[in-house]
Amino acid sequence: PVRVRIAPSPTGEPHVGTAYIALFNYLFAKKHGGEFILRIEDTDATRSTPEFEQKVLDALKWCGLKWSEGPDIGGPYGPYRQSDRKDLYRPYVEKIVENGHGFRCFCTPERLEQMREAQRAAGKPPKYDGRCLSLSAEEVTGRVNAGEPHVVRMKIPTEGSCKFHDGVYGDVEIPWDAVDMQVLLKADGMPTYHMANVVDDHMMRITHVARGEEWLASVPKHILIYRYLGLEPPVFMHLSLMRNADKSKLSKRKNPTSISYYTALGYLPEALMNFLGLFFIQIAEGEEMLTMDQLAGKFDPENLSKAGAIFDIQKLDWLNGRWLREGLSEEEFAARVLSWAMENDRVKQGLKLSQSRITKLGELPDLAGFLFKSDLGLDASSFAKVKSPPDELVAIFNEVQPSLEKILEWNVEAIEAELRAVAERLDKKLKVVVAPLFIAVSGSSRSLPLFDSMAILGRSVVRQRLKVAGQ
Ligand code: ATP
Ligand code: GLU
Repeated sequence: PVRVRIAPSPTGEPHVGTAYIALFNYLFAKKHGGEFILRIEDTDATRSTPEFEQKVLDALKWCGLKWSEGPDIGGPYGPYRQSDRKDLYRPYVEKIVENGHGFRCFCTPERLEQMREAQRAAGKPPKYDGRCLSLSAEEVTGRVNAGEPHVVRMKIPTEGSCKFHDGVYGDVEIPWDAVDMQVLLKADGMPTYHMANVVDDHMMRITHVARGEEWLASVPKHILIYRYLGLEPPVFMHLSLMRNADKSKLSKRKNPTSISYYTALGYLPEALMNFLGLFFIQIAEGEEMLTMDQLAGKFDPENLSKAGAIFDIQKLDWLNGRWLREGLSEEEFAARVLSWAMENDRVKQGLKLSQSRITKLGELPDLAGFLFKSDLGLDASSFAKVKSPPDELVAIFNEVQPSLEKILEWNVEAIEAELRAVAERLDKKLKVVVAPLFIAVSGSSRSLPLFDSMAILGRSVVRQRLKVAGQ
């Protein structure tokens, strides 16, 4: 039976790219009468958080993608969170070492950094130089027994290349020379992504691995791990990443990429899934509006567009408009609006800030509407009310933009502290610095408090609005 999975890492706001890959897997399972599984890949303990994990689950649920096994509901091959599986990986790593396919590496982070530095200087790609390969068995045992910190790395063939078939790319050949002696087990006993991913796909009986093309170059490592363990690899399918209209990779630096942004602005999950699903099927013009079931019916992984998936926001808007007009009855529409407002964090936060700033409910849209717009429609004249002359405005924007990038945790306090620091550096009053930002962020000089508004809008929207205003 077909078993596929989505394996997100809970290290940030859930990404539309995750929904895109999840949808492919979901449709693939539906088409083949198989199972769609959710697995949380949190081997990167420093960046993974339970809050992001909850957000991933909520976001995928909002999308309408239902899994039959996962960390929240369990299943026959659990646990479904890698940090809960730590002890399961060790025997697999030991087997690789015992069979001579892996080795213990005692190189310190400082030595590895020097090595990479030298490789960079020589114009070579960074790659482990194999120093610990030549340690004698006695020396390794002695150092392990002495409690010296070490990792386990995998051996890589010294010549030839790895040939494999990818369900999307076709035949692929990658020279072994281009493959690093990957760390499998970290010094703290946690497996790396590669090790955990392969062991879990095996233990969870995954038959097809569909994921973003950024993992294509990792396939040789994964195939080797399967081979070292005497296991059969699954079928691989690497999907082209979503791109902006200018062909650059869709990235939060250019476009809002978090699913919650689309939820907050009032896109319907039906429309977002419809939009993403069109990347996986061939249809004639006029047949674009499709439900999940219709998408599954037409889904054909043999027929993906090689041109890549262009994230055309106008097309998404058009589909969303059609779903609002044609996909919902009058009653359903009203019910959706109400539930959107009730369950929407951004609405809640906006209301909280608005309560003390209006005299009639009808003033709400004018006051807080900017929180829900994708375009504020600003031009140079919008800044006419600001007292600073144009060159001073430019100086302020130029100083503010990079400063905000330095913020680690995006919240009201951090934003305020950073903008106060900017004012100090520019030797200006805070008032002078925030006046143009008010307009850039909210479209008006009379609106909700700036720092709170920036916190609610999120880093990528603020980044985008400042960029538009700074131009
Ligand atoms: P950046 O903006 O710094 O490039 P990012 O947008 O790539 O970051 P990540 O946090 O690196 O965001 O990615 C989160 C998840 O989203 C990963 O699973 C990744 O595979 C997926 N993803 C990111 N960008 C895309 C894309 N353009 N198309 C499809 N999936 C993507
Ligand atoms: N945790 C990886 C990611 O978030 C999963 C990659 C895979 O599907 O193998 O992209």
